[in-house]
Amino acid sequence: MKTAAASPAPPLATGPYKGRLEWPLLLQWLREDGWVGAEDADRVTARFRAGPSSLHPLVRLGGAGLTRRSAAGASGVLLDTELLTEWLAGRCGMPYLRIDPLRVDVGRVSDVMSVQYAQSRLALPVQVGATEVTIATAEPYDTGWLGEIESHVRRNVKLVVANPDEIRRYTTEFYALARSVRNAQKSGEVATGASFEQLVELGKTAKTLDANDQGVVQVVDWLWQYAFDQRASDIHLEPRRDMGAIRFRIDGVLHTVYQVPLAVMAAMTSRIKLLGRMDVVEKRRPLDGRIKTRRPEGADGKPGGEVEMRLSTLPTAFGEKMVMRIFDPQTVVKGLPALGFGEHEGRAWAELIHRPHGIILVTGPTGSGKTTTLYSTLKQLATEEVNVCTIEDPIEMIEPAFNQTQVQPALDMGFAEGLRALMRQDPDIIMVGEIRDLETAEMAIQAALTGHLVFSTLHTNDAVGAVTRLADLGVPGYLISATVIGVLAQRLVRTLCPACKVRDEATTRDVLDDFARPWRLSGGVRAYKPVGCLECRHTGFRGRAGLYELLLMNDAARAAVHPALDADALRRAAVKDGLRPLRLAGGMKVAEGHTTLAEVLRNTPGL
Ligand SMILES: [Zn+2]
Repeated sequence: MKTAAASPAPPLATGPYKGRLEWPLLLQWLREDGWVGAEDADRVTARFRAGPSSLHPLVRLGGAGLTRRSAAGASGVLLDTELLTEWLAGRCGMPYLRIDPLRVDVGRVSDVMSVQYAQSRLALPVQVGATEVTIATAEPYDTGWLGEIESHVRRNVKLVVANPDEIRRYTTEFYALARSVRNAQKSGEVATGASFEQLVELGKTAKTLDANDQGVVQVVDWLWQYAFDQRASDIHLEPRRDMGAIRFRIDGVLHTVYQVPLAVMAAMTSRIKLLGRMDVVEKRRPLDGRIKTRRPEGADGKPGGEVEMRLSTLPTAFGEKMVMRIFDPQTVVKGLPALGFGEHEGRAWAELIHRPHGIILVTGPTGSGKTTTLYSTLKQLATEEVNVCTIEDPIEMIEPAFNQTQVQPALDMGFAEGLRALMRQDPDIIMVGEIRDLETAEMAIQAALTGHLVFSTLHTNDAVGAVTRLADLGVPGYLISATVIGVLAQRLVRTLCPACKVRDEATTRDVLDDFARPWRLSGGVRAYKPVGCLECRHTGFRGRAGLYELLLMNDAARAAVHPALDADALRRAAVKDGLRPLRLAGGMKVAEGHTTLAEVLRNTPGL
């Protein structure tokens, strides 16, 4: 007792700081923590004193071009707002949070506090649990309002620190969205049984209505924007028994991002059908449509690029299910280097596609990236001087540089008929979506023999398999050897998230050599394994890359096709000429640290 009484209470001045953040204080703390040197601090002080700013101090300092100092001197790491936010969280002893919009319970943020309340406190509820509410803030020392909220929601509040810019942005978006869902639900309730007319009215009058009344329009806009932000390839709207689930496919994996009342989902589907010029009344048959929209303006202020979506609906037990497949020209049409060709295959492919005539086949299962390869290749070839024509089923993406035609089986226009019509259009380069039958194969051969360059796809496991397949369709060996000049087999593998991947010491050269036997890998081995972080939605992977196997029809390969097809001899000839099988291409991507053995094993045929 005596000792306790003897130690004086700390003077108030050195107690924990209370109030809003100020830049001089943050700068002082950064210096105390050894993150910023005296010279840098003086420079920033002089500059900031020169003029006031309405920016949050973390944002202002984050834009000051400061670099982190380390024991050895300047480390060169830029102290941006995000890093400063993380530092501040550590300093005030609160968890740091990078807000993940897909994990926020958007429907309930407004139960916790009003938008005005959130904006004035620079705080945003991000999770509402049974006993606890998590609130992100960029003012961790300004907490006088906590008690008020705790008694209002009858839960404990857990504060986390987040980037002030993101809190501002998401506060606007989440509250607007929550309001839209409420409005859409309200108008749905009023118009029970007549929701279609209601929606058409909504769509028609949206321009003259106050922005707050746009309900469904806003929800749909929000949905697209998030899908683009999250690099989703598909959006699913799935009516279930009680609620409608919205799911995004990102890097090949589906994620549930939001649940909405069934009435709202039906309204969203109707609005999207309306925009896609589909029959909004027809809900019992599957329908197709297409929408062209724009990405929102980028952070750099540049106008957003065009995005094309292919729509399809399917009647299910609980209503109409809709899938939107997103074709972003920036990701569908890439420069050839961005396709992920190895040096050897890349050079050979570039040479092949510049030949004047012949057939080039791309093969692989659905979803192996054939369309991207073909569009990207044709885009390279489509200059003012040549006529590039395609016949597709369906047209995946409208590309102004091509003349594209869609097959219409109902009108008796399949690939063969389309190709016949197309031949009268003075084409130079032709892309036939797929060779499924002898008739189409014969037309393609005819086109190649008369001096055209023809691209097409087949569904086979590997490059040699495509040649076998043509023979199986009934194409004579001499025609194959006279026209086919190359076959590219391909697969997609997920690539490791660069933000969180760690070295994988267990995947050594011996392991990889064993995996690729009888081949041996050249070059160094530096394998990585997935971990998972916010950047990659805790999957450990981000993006996908192509694996390629290129068969070039040289003299030896042609001899293996004609007069009699010998698949083994063809494979031997191709390998001798430098063909590297898909699995070996995958092994090399593992050695370079881009993907994992498990990914390659799952996606490539055995050797
Ligand atoms: Zn990651």
